[in-house]
Amino acid sequence: GFKSRVSVIGSGRWGSVAAKLVAFNTLNLSSFHDEVKMWVFEETLQSGEKLTDAINRTNENVKYLPGIKLGKNVIADPDLDNAVKDANMLVFVTPHQFIDNICKSLVGKVRSDAEAISLIKGMEVKIEGPCLISTYISEQLGINCSVLMGANLANEIAEEKFSEATVGYRNNREIAEQWVQLFTTPYFMVTPVQDVEGVELCGTLKNVVAIAAGFVDGLDMGNNTKAAIIRFGLREMREFCKLLFSSVKDDTFFESCGVADVITTCFGGRNRKVAEAFARNGGKRSFDELEAEMLQGQKLQGVTTVREVYEVLRHRGLLELFPLFATVHEICSGCLPPSAIVIYSEKKNIFP
Ligand code: NAD
Ligand code: 13P
Repeated sequence: GFKSRVSVIGSGRWGSVAAKLVAFNTLNLSSFHDEVKMWVFEETLQSGEKLTDAINRTNENVKYLPGIKLGKNVIADPDLDNAVKDANMLVFVTPHQFIDNICKSLVGKVRSDAEAISLIKGMEVKIEGPCLISTYISEQLGINCSVLMGANLANEIAEEKFSEATVGYRNNREIAEQWVQLFTTPYFMVTPVQDVEGVELCGTLKNVVAIAAGFVDGLDMGNNTKAAIIRFGLREMREFCKLLFSSVKDDTFFESCGVADVITTCFGGRNRKVAEAFARNGGKRSFDELEAEMLQGQKLQGVTTVREVYEVLRHRGLLELFPLFATVHEICSGCLPPSAIVIYSEKKNIFP
């Protein structure tokens, strides 16, 4: 019978873990070809070796996920067209700022019957307004796109510590079940939810809250303050989701993609970590500089999302309804000091 072929587009920290999860299952499920191609944005390592060659030689992503075997059936490929050529299941997992170029170069190159899933946390903001990454992929490539989001710090899943995730799908439950099957392992529990917009926007917006939480940590304000910021943030996430899509379900916020992802990212994520350093430096060193220094090529999603969310709210004249989101942007852009995170969000909060 027909066997599905999976390709992973992206090979950063989460991309590599996603390839590992998927490759474990394709080996064990008869409905999939064993091999999983993983597209690598090629770079040359300090040793002079190409990253792709190093991955295929050691079976580890020596730069973005050292020390973790991906599975022998993961094959790194620097050629995007070749990596997706025969695949009917496409897993998109790159930082969101690169998806535009990737999709443009994939037009006409993917199978017309392919199904996609996006693990990308972010959004595209176009002149016409905001666009979910899954919608963007879907429109550019003419294929359906689901999402997988959740409380998923990649380094912990790489070590096979238990966590869960949410698959958001539009209307085809069977496709959702296929994605659930492809990602589920004994240490990774995946639940399907028919609310693609809610699931994806939760994953995107929690990075804004994580930056706020990082500011609180950098100011040594303690746990109660951080909990308050998390609560303000969750409330603004809900309002923002409903503003964009009235279909978003309240229950989605109680799935892994909602409150659980906010918690894990506000305690253990990279956005939090770099925002803490930003606040400790009194906002005098830029996020770009700190990211380059602290993350060895990994990319933050939060700072661009902060700006994108701000643009959407400004365009609609709704900034004052979102004091936390607005204040995070004003701090990131240097208009307010990090300490404004509490004063301003408290004073301006108006949702019941
Ligand atoms: P990463 O931040 O670890 O790595 C950055 C990646 O970007 C590298 O693979 C690098 O090769 C690539 N890159 C650099 N310049 C590029 C370019 N010009 N074009 C294309 N690619 C380029 O990546 P990640 O952690 O895999 O993040 C991918 C997505 O997954 C993000 O949206 C992130 O929010 C999300 N995510 C990450 C985690 C995590 O814990 N790391 C967890 C859940 C979701
Ligand atoms: P960071 O990018 O802040 O590390 O968050 C990772 C994440 O999305 C966890 O679910």
